[in-house]
Amino acid sequence: MKEIGVAIVGGGPAGLQAAITLANKGIKPFLFEEHSTIGEPIQCGEGLSINAFKDFNLPKGEKSFSVKELDTCHLIFPENKTILGDIQASMIRRDKFDQYLSKKATDLGAEIFTATKVTDIQRKTNGVVIKTKGESNSEYFAKLLILAEGPNARLAQTLNFQAPSPMIKAFEYKMKGEWSDKLEFHFDAKKFPFGYCWVFPREGETNVGIVTTAKDRKLRLDKFLKNRGIIGSILKKVGGQIPMNGPVKKLSHNRILLAGDTAGMVNPIFYGGIRIAMTSGQIAGDTVTEILKMETNQASFNLKIYEEKLRQFKFMKKINLQCHRFFYSRSNKFLTKLGEVFDNSHINRIEGGEILRTLGKILLRPSMMSNPIGLYRLYKGFLIARDWGF
Ligand SMILES: Cc1cc2nc3c(=O)[nH]c(=O)nc-3n(C[C@H](O)[C@H](O)[C@H](O)COP(=O)(O)OP(=O)(O)OC[C@H]3O[C@@H](n4cnc5c(N)ncnc54)[C@H](O)[C@@H]3O)c2cc1C
Repeated sequence: MKEIGVAIVGGGPAGLQAAITLANKGIKPFLFEEHSTIGEPIQCGEGLSINAFKDFNLPKGEKSFSVKELDTCHLIFPENKTILGDIQASMIRRDKFDQYLSKKATDLGAEIFTATKVTDIQRKTNGVVIKTKGESNSEYFAKLLILAEGPNARLAQTLNFQAPSPMIKAFEYKMKGEWSDKLEFHFDAKKFPFGYCWVFPREGETNVGIVTTAKDRKLRLDKFLKNRGIIGSILKKVGGQIPMNGPVKKLSHNRILLAGDTAGMVNPIFYGGIRIAMTSGQIAGDTVTEILKMETNQASFNLKIYEEKLRQFKFMKKINLQCHRFFYSRSNKFLTKLGEVFDNSHINRIEGGEILRTLGKILLRPSMMSNPIGLYRLYKGFLIARDWGF
């Protein structure tokens, strides 16, 4: 059995950023990814907040993965009431983005095994035994493990971690032609329950998708395309599932840290998770580095600092889930009123007298005021989603 210091399962943004962080600090991580090519198959709308570029020192406009930058989004409610928002995002090539992170990690000294599935993990007194199948068919002994296996969390469950649940499913077409000049989010409680349809323009293409708890997603997306007047040919179909209920309770235990979707760390308003996954991977990498420096021969490591560090981030706050529950259980009547109040206004630019006028508009719609705590949660949750939504 080969002894390795730190193992990482999963070559998505969480695992790769953990590998970069560790390798950057002189610790050689061993990362296992079941697919033969990092970043494939793509399961993503490919929208990434500009904040991620700042957080992780990513080169803006990097040709290999940056497609287009956008600075406006439209939140579109029933009856076409539209709220405008300043939201800086980059449309990326998600496969190339993950490959960029992978190259950065290997350049820094990380060892990445592709086409290598981790089939079993057993806890031992001083670490974990990892069995792999595929290109690297072997057994490894690691002192610490970062589990970033994505939303299925199969291995995490065998290790008695709670699975992120419930899941919401997303389905997307990559369409020929640019069908918008901004990010569009279409909300409708009846047509897209618990979710929305998106239109994300790229160079000569548009990603159009749906995320919803409704089972007939494809049918609903097809109807949306028709109503929105998008008629280009479909270049590709993409689908996958996303944790919808926020972070799981236990994020680490006895030499194992969960990161990214495995820990349910996805924004429950827009269901984006790339930046959050990378942040949790980075914090996991930092924590492991600190622990390895502090306590060399202990049987059990104190991983509480991982949770303490993560809890400082707004994406971990309960208000996100409270906002999700309030917003996604509203009727179209409420959504239309919300759209009316802010119709055609720039939500990030409301200040001075405009605040009073907006409050006045809400007061003129007394049914909106029946749950003031809910309204507060809506406001706070969307404020966080602007930063951490994707
Ligand atoms: C259709 C769709 C659209 C989305 N659009 C956006 C968006 O536009 N913006 C955004 O921010 N987020 C988006 N998300 C969410 C985002 O993709 C995820 O939050 C993000 O990928 C999470 O990263 P991760 O590293 O935690 O997991 P993943 O990216 O899922 O990576 C996990 C990796 O682990 C590997 N793996 C799993 N099990 C094993 C094993 N046993 N052995 C070895 N390897 C294993 C998998 O192959 C995978 O590569 C979208 C999700 C879906 C499904």
